[in-house]
Amino acid sequence: MCGIFAYTGAQGKDAGKVLLDGLLSLEYRGYDSAGIFTPESGSIKSPGAVAELRKKIPTGFGGKSGIAHLRWATHGEPNEKNAHPHQDCTGELWIVHNGIIENFKELKEKLAHAGHRFASDSDTEVLAHLVEEHLKKEKNFEKAALAALNDLRGTYGIALQYKGEPDKLIAARMGSPIVIGLGDGEHFIASDPSPILPHTKKVVFLEDGEVAVLTPHKHSIYKLNAEKVDRTPTEIDWSPEEAQKGGYEHFMLKEIMEGPEVVENTLRGRVIAEKGMVKLGGLEAVAKELASIERVIIVGCGTAYYAGLVGEYMLEEFAGIPVEVELASEFRYRAPVLNQKTALIAISQSGETLDTLEAIREGKRKGALTLGIVNAVGSTIARETDAGVYNHAGPEVSVASTKALVSQLTALALFTVFLGRQRAMSEETGKEITAELKKLPAKLKAILGRTADIEVLAKKYASSRDFLFIGRKYNYPVALEGAIKLKEISYVHAEGYSAGEMKHGPIAMIDEHFPTFALAPHDSVYEKVVSNIHELKARKGPVVALVTEGDTRVAELADDVIAVPKTLEMLSPILNVVPLQLFAYYFAKEKGLNVDRPRNLAKSVTVE
Ligand code: GLU
Repeated sequence: MCGIFAYTGAQGKDAGKVLLDGLLSLEYRGYDSAGIFTPESGSIKSPGAVAELRKKIPTGFGGKSGIAHLRWATHGEPNEKNAHPHQDCTGELWIVHNGIIENFKELKEKLAHAGHRFASDSDTEVLAHLVEEHLKKEKNFEKAALAALNDLRGTYGIALQYKGEPDKLIAARMGSPIVIGLGDGEHFIASDPSPILPHTKKVVFLEDGEVAVLTPHKHSIYKLNAEKVDRTPTEIDWSPEEAQKGGYEHFMLKEIMEGPEVVENTLRGRVIAEKGMVKLGGLEAVAKELASIERVIIVGCGTAYYAGLVGEYMLEEFAGIPVEVELASEFRYRAPVLNQKTALIAISQSGETLDTLEAIREGKRKGALTLGIVNAVGSTIARETDAGVYNHAGPEVSVASTKALVSQLTALALFTVFLGRQRAMSEETGKEITAELKKLPAKLKAILGRTADIEVLAKKYASSRDFLFIGRKYNYPVALEGAIKLKEISYVHAEGYSAGEMKHGPIAMIDEHFPTFALAPHDSVYEKVVSNIHELKARKGPVVALVTEGDTRVAELADDVIAVPKTLEMLSPILNVVPLQLFAYYFAKEKGLNVDRPRNLAKSVTVE
């Protein structure tokens, strides 16, 4: 999920320097440890920043080629042992990897049985040993690498090096981006073009299921079945900064656009659709306790708190467990009544949010079973909770949370099926939810294919000074999220309200200058929201409505509509938050604001 950089050259450049400089330009991606290898000097690894790695590098470290990595841990704590590059038993084969090897456990068992010894807890190391095993039979590096890749399940962006052929690098891609840089007498592998651009503008983007073999003067691309691929290189004239943002203007937009991939990553390896079941490895150790809990309390802050509110609707309706959701900063200062039959769930992207962490500590003191829904592996909340579910959304750079929320909601849906099937949820319902979860990436893609319409709409309303967001049931928290997103990046007064509550106060504000964003998907409370839109129109309030594709009733009533594909009511927030994120994004952009770094806010809030 993080950064790879590899180099082979015949120009006399020092690979050690080239690689370290490259890692620095990938640092923006957010990572927890770094490492470097050259055949001439061996490997150096360190938890923390590239600066820490640099301190450990002895004078004279270098070579003609090498591989380097920034790790964002998914399997195993972010320490030196688990940092990449990883090696095989002989120390001849070295690998850096981004992504997750799903079948690493079974491969590890097989390889251990064949006598391989492992030095880390990471999934990646397995691949080094797997290539070693194939090399014994194939006696050819390329063939061995290809055979090993064919044994893998999961996602990867990979760079592989073999001391026996030190100027050769092998790259492969499945789900995690890989770009090849084509220089004059030198070649590069990277997870985005930013570290390549100072050397060459000529690149080839690998597609999923492709493998590249590079030496300083030659590059070849193959499919996993060894069939040759011809691809014309592209010249890119992005600045290094544009390259970091994948060609998008802001990280926020890049991260919103990652939605489909994020949902796939959160679901990966966890859905047993044919049985309507969900497998959550991180909860296995506490599955028995979970079967007997009588109450759930969810704590979080900001957007993560809103994810919790959606979780409340999901868990109560489909798992039949009473749920309360509380702002972490409030929870810890009152006298919550908890016991062993209570599961306290913390939702936090960074896993370092201090208010949420303290709420968890309070829960532990009172004997609750503590769980985390956390994106950053090895973070404090992940370590201090009894068990948990990782989001696997990848690092989020923009301060305003977007893709992390999409993954939190997906993780909550998985958790609901998990708890539900332990209780009264039928196999049929489990099947219906899991099948629909798998369709969400394609539906998100459809929404993201129509960003231009949302941009036009945001521009139309960008001079508004106030905005009301309304929704009911599952889409009430979505309305709250729409308001906070607009507030935090465009500094416009926005309020999220339950649509039913509008008549008890906020409707007094409505006039022709006060627009409302109404969430009106075709669900069990549709009629009620339509009535609320009538109430707004009767007071001349402009209305933008989010509707389900095919809806015509609201379109006749509202000033503007955004249509989203139909899905199950409980999963609709996963789709519906995205147009709201885009609306806030284009709104703030139109106002010329610093979207990624809004004033007065920090990404990881480690103060109370
Ligand atoms: N799954 C690998 C690990 O935890 C790679 C993580 C990454 O993408 O940086 O080591």
